[in-house]
Amino acid sequence: MSGPLLKVENLTKHYSLGTGFLKKTVPVIRAVEDVSFSVEAGETLCIVGESGCGKSTVARLLMRLVEPTGGRVLIDGTDIAGLKKDALHAWRRRMQMVFQDPYSSLNPRLTVEQIITEPVENFERLSRKQRQALAADLLQNVGMWPEMMHRLPSELSGGQRQRLGIARALSLNPSLIIADEAVSALDVSVQAQILNLLLDLQQQMGIAFVFISHDLGVVEHIAHRVAVMYLGRIVELAPCEALFAKPVHPYTEALIAAAPVPDPTHLRLKATVEGEMPSPINPPTGCAFHPRCPLAVERCRTEVPPLVSIADGRLAACHVRAPATDIPVHLEHSLAGVSDDTELWTPTQIAGLFATKYGEKAG
Ligand code: SF4
Repeated sequence: MSGPLLKVENLTKHYSLGTGFLKKTVPVIRAVEDVSFSVEAGETLCIVGESGCGKSTVARLLMRLVEPTGGRVLIDGTDIAGLKKDALHAWRRRMQMVFQDPYSSLNPRLTVEQIITEPVENFERLSRKQRQALAADLLQNVGMWPEMMHRLPSELSGGQRQRLGIARALSLNPSLIIADEAVSALDVSVQAQILNLLLDLQQQMGIAFVFISHDLGVVEHIAHRVAVMYLGRIVELAPCEALFAKPVHPYTEALIAAAPVPDPTHLRLKATVEGEMPSPINPPTGCAFHPRCPLAVERCRTEVPPLVSIADGRLAACHVRAPATDIPVHLEHSLAGVSDDTELWTPTQIAGLFATKYGEKAG
């Protein structure tokens, strides 16, 4: 089938904080707001952002563990919201999830063999011999010994438990795995082993990953493309190399500047953002990043910047760095007395925008 494996359109999730029976307005947590992206077969899309930005809610919406307030999730063109019980059950074979905490995501009373084969037995009956063969095969795939199939999760190390979680996800031969902070609870050396395992499995089996993480070192190692989220919205989406080489959105720039670099001679970008992320119950008007943004202009306080295509497969939502209209925000910016970075604009583009708004006066 042509087209992306996963397509997400205007996905939105609001949580109401009351019934509104006696109150005129009910407070609402805007966890995810108008999120759109797609994932091709065999691709890894990483979603990054600070804690509370909505990335884990996106993971749960993709798996239909929570119902969206608006928008659609399409797998091979089928909207999963419209699937009834049996169809939804069958569809779940296509997408599996690996959770952050390998300790609590495994049933402590089941053996390794039972944990691995349980998802398959939800669909078909297996003989004892088939169960053991499947478990041995999957354990070998994730770098564990088949002899471990009789152990309990408590008899495994943290890395082995996460490998077991991956083996369980692989048991249904999925097309897409959603990994929510899948390595953040592990030691750095074990993280590297698990990441390399995921990359190997992707090459061998052509699995696509949506990888949720707050760790930019991990993301840079594993991603084909990266979506950066801030307060429920995607603010930048770009091929991994381009995003790290030259971030467009001021928030992406600040995230990369704040990430630790294990090289004392490495020249870092200057960190440009301070303060906390605002509450999703009462988000700022306009661009939600404007209270922390050193490049903010007047327009940022009133208008939400749309996510627009800029160049080289990149999307960004910023009135200054990726303006969607012909308003010369760089002029507005310089008039506001803020030093800006116009490198992303060619002189011809700037002159064109200037002329569009100011006509003859532009010359
Ligand atoms: Fe900063 Fe304005 Fe761009 Fe938002 S739209 S990131 S406030 S410059």
